[in-house]
Order: sequence, then structure tokens, then C-alpha cells
Amino acid sequence: MKIFVLNCGSSSLKYQLINMDTDQVLAKGLCERIGIEGSNIAHEPDGKDKVKMESPMKDHTDAVKLVLDSLLHADYGVIKSIDEIGAVGHRVVHGGEKFSKSAIITAEVKKAIEDCCALAPLHNPANIIGIEACEKIMPNVKQVAVFDTAFHQTMDKDAYLYAIPYEYYEKHAIRRYGFHGTSHLYVSDRAAKMVGKPIDKLKMVTCHLGNGASICAVENGKSVDTSMGLTPLEGLAMGTRSGDMDPAIIKFLMDKEGLSIADVDNVLNKKSGVLGVSGVSSDFRDIMGEAEKGNDRAKSALALYARRVAKYVGAYAAAMNGIDVVVFTAGLGENSGDMRKSVCEYLGWLGVSINADANSKRGEEIEITTADSKVKVLVIPTNEELVIARDTLALVK
Ligand code: ADP
Repeated sequence: MKIFVLNCGSSSLKYQLINMDTDQVLAKGLCERIGIEGSNIAHEPDGKDKVKMESPMKDHTDAVKLVLDSLLHADYGVIKSIDEIGAVGHRVVHGGEKFSKSAIITAEVKKAIEDCCALAPLHNPANIIGIEACEKIMPNVKQVAVFDTAFHQTMDKDAYLYAIPYEYYEKHAIRRYGFHGTSHLYVSDRAAKMVGKPIDKLKMVTCHLGNGASICAVENGKSVDTSMGLTPLEGLAMGTRSGDMDPAIIKFLMDKEGLSIADVDNVLNKKSGVLGVSGVSSDFRDIMGEAEKGNDRAKSALALYARRVAKYVGAYAAAMNGIDVVVFTAGLGENSGDMRKSVCEYLGWLGVSINADANSKRGEEIEITTADSKVKVLVIPTNEELVIARDTLALVK
């Protein structure tokens, strides 16, 4: 069966078409600037040249139509008929406490996703628009929602409660949810296979270090703690997000800078993280380049980032009362041996010993520790789309 995987943002749409018999990605691509001038699609069919074109897309329905036209195109298409698409899997960011697993989309499920919009106002509305666009264009094809939060629903109350009045949890469902669940699930599963032990006998810390970044404590295959919280703002420093900080800074900034609460929210989400500290960029490649030239703020941003990752690894080793494996994944985790080295320099006390040669590799599944290292450190390229496609297949079969 071929599964169409969709990840809709407010003005973007990422897609893959995967042949589940072989796990082969038949085509993937990205529509950007949906609903604004200059909408464009970049379509990459397997084994054929990449196509990039500007094309008006007034909404996500137009975008889905354009993607399907591309998949069916005589020159750069990969299927002959829309009937070849067996099901659609949607990445949905927030499933609240309602979804601990993926779900076939029904009117009831859609309503539950809508109810979670308050918890993810930037993401869930876009996800619903993507679902409705597919319902319109492919009314007979089954659709599945795969939630970023679902994997973390195994956390105990002591891990997910905030130390604020309990009534706010009861009234507003304010608690830690965690994100990047499909990624943490995928790499922890791969990690168990790589070390050749059953997943229910392993304590792991998985580090998803991309533009957004989060860490997860995975004990016996289950998420028991994670660094992102009610929203994806908490935890590590990120490209543009502050991550953890003293909550009193919010009032302090409002008073000193005359900012509104919306301004501060914007600063913490869009102008902070390694961009805010370095003043260079949110992209680690740019910051690393500047640091090499001697830029002190760029060096500070990188050092602060690595220290925070290491502190979380230490905290989660304590929370699990042990640790067997650390995994690095996503853009930075998969590609930057320098960042992995900086983090692992803090972990000598855990018995981590890095093999420099292996650590110099990029973007492949590899163990980067020496044979005598007490804790194994692995690099595993993530594959969230494959998890979405597999869950979709399992539910529609
Ligand atoms: P997302 O999916 O969250 O948008 P990615 O997982 O693709 O992000 O990660 C993107 C980040 O990975 C970029 O901001 C960049 O800083 C970092 N990155 C990618 N390749 C490299 C590299 N070779 N060296 C250092 N950082 C890299």
C-alpha cells in the first residue's frame, strides 16, 4: 500500500508518498507561502529531477490539489491514479490528554483535535485545515491522525505536573505534554535494535536537536520524562526559542522594556535561543562559522546550548536511576560531531568515552562510543514520516 504523509503548518505543507511494501519514499516535497504571494512547491520524485515552481495556492485545499497533480504528472509524477493512495497520515501536533495513540479520523476525532487548539494555537488549526482539504479532495480515502504528544502520554503524574495550583491542571489541562514524540519513538526503537537488547530492558536518553529541540527519557520503551512542556517553548535552548528560564523574567522584561505580554511571547519564541544569544543566526552552521572566526557571542551560544543538553542527560539519568544509551538525532544531532563532542565532554562521569573517528561521520546510523564505554552513544537519523506512515497503515489495514 502507498501512504501519503502530510505535515501542515499555517502557511506550509510538507509531504511524502511512501510505498509501505519497501519503505521507499516515492516522492517528497514542500509547499510554502500558502495563502500569500509567491506560493511555491518543491517536488522531489524518486529517481527523477527535482521540480520547483511558483504556483498560486490560496489555501491548503489548493496546495493538496497541486501536490496530487505533481504526484500524477506525466513527467515528474510517481503514480498513475489517485486510487493508488491507500490512506493519508497527518502529523497533528497536539493531542492533549485525549490521544495516547494515533487515531482514524472521524467527526469525533476532529472535534477532539479542535478542542486541543487552545493548547497549540499555531499548529492544530493548520493540521485541521490539512485534514479537511484531504476530506474534500479524497473523500473515499481513510485518514489517520498521528500526534506529536502521544508517545509522552506514558509519563507519570510526578513528571507531567507543574508545581502551580492543582486547579489549573483540572480547569485548563495545564501540564507537561512533550513533543517530537514520533521522533523519540523512532530513534529509541532503532537504538534498541542497534545495541541488540530488548527495548524493555533499556534506559535511554534521546536528544532531538533540530530547529526545535527536545530530550526524552525513554525507560523500557516508554517516555517517562521530556523537556518540552505545555508548549514547545520549554526545555533546551533552541534556534529561536528560549527554553527554560526564570518565569519572573517575563514581568521584568515587560516593566523594563515596556513590552506587552504578546511582545514578550514573541521575543521568547522568535528572537531568543541561539539566535538571541549569538546575534548571528538561528542556524548552527552560521553560528559555528562565526565562532571559528572568534565571535565571542557565537561561542557563548554554542557553549550554553551544549551545557543544557548535558544537564538534561544528567537529570534524566537520575530520574531513571540509570542510563544505558544516549541517542543524537535531527539536523544538529545527526550532522554535528562538534556539538556531540561538546555535550559528551560533560558525560565522562557516566562512563561515556567517545570514539573520535566514528564521531566524525555524518547523517548515518552509527555508534560513536569506544568498546569499553559504559554508556553507548548513538547517532540515528530520525524518520518521523515513516512512523506516521506505519501507524496509518496499521490502523487502516
Ligand atoms: P526542523 O525539522 O526542526 O526544522 P532539522 O532537524 O532539519 O530542523 O534541523 C535543522 C538544524 O540543523 C539547522 O538549523 C541547522 O542548524 C542544523 N544543522 C543541519 N546540518 C548541520 C551541520 N552539518 N552542522 C551543524 N548544524 C547543522
